[in-house]
Amino acid sequence: MTTITSASTLVLLLTSLIHANGLNLINQTQIKNFLQEIYYQPYQEFSRDALLFRYPNFDSWKRPADKPITIAIQVGHLMIDQLPLELRQLAQGGGARRGTLKEVDINNDIAKQAARVLTQYGYKVELLPSLIPDSYNADVFVSIHANAGDANTSGFFMGGPAVDYSEKNKSLKWSLIQEYASSTGMMYLDRTSENIKFYYAFNWSKFKHTIFPKTPAILIETGNMNNLNDLIALTLHRDRMAEGIANGIRAFLQQTHTSPEDFE
Ligand SMILES: [Zn+2]
Repeated sequence: MTTITSASTLVLLLTSLIHANGLNLINQTQIKNFLQEIYYQPYQEFSRDALLFRYPNFDSWKRPADKPITIAIQVGHLMIDQLPLELRQLAQGGGARRGTLKEVDINNDIAKQAARVLTQYGYKVELLPSLIPDSYNADVFVSIHANAGDANTSGFFMGGPAVDYSEKNKSLKWSLIQEYASSTGMMYLDRTSENIKFYYAFNWSKFKHTIFPKTPAILIETGNMNNLNDLIALTLHRDRMAEGIANGIRAFLQQTHTSPEDFE
């Protein structure tokens, strides 16, 4: 029995098979892209080896000094049907739901309002759907979600990647907790969630469409759709949630960068 040792051998084999059968539907480049999408997995977990495998110049990488401060806000589950093959399995869930209320609509509204506040503060904001560009780089990345847990639990929680190569996540998380709690009056739940630590957009060791690991990144679960108090807040007080997130991001940037005007 022969073992296929490399992706290029596999591409050649598949191409010849498809052509031998008279099916000229896909060409070699398409097959190659297809394989890259379904198999981009140099390492299973975050590690320094994985990091240097994907980003050989990681240690010497520096943020371009003339680039304006850029804030990325991801709308959790938005346009999930457009995810590439490597992430297609995530499209099945589609986010939390309560009756006709969909998590994605809540996320979208909060994200847009937070973006508006940050733009008024003078920052450049990019709103992102589920699919983010390959090795996406920004000064902050915040992904907005709402969970649907135990009905008796009220509160918000958040977390960043399993390994923080930005070395700024603690500060980002702290600023967000303070400001979100003060704007919404909601309780912070100190939870560590594996789902958050290995969130696909953080997981550059497994997927291509992820943040560059020096991007400070947090995923926030803004409230529990199954809890009555949180549901009311998630329905009627999204402006306060948005303000909390925007102020948290601004507080973080003021600690770690200069103000946006300095780049003009
Ligand atoms: Zn979600």
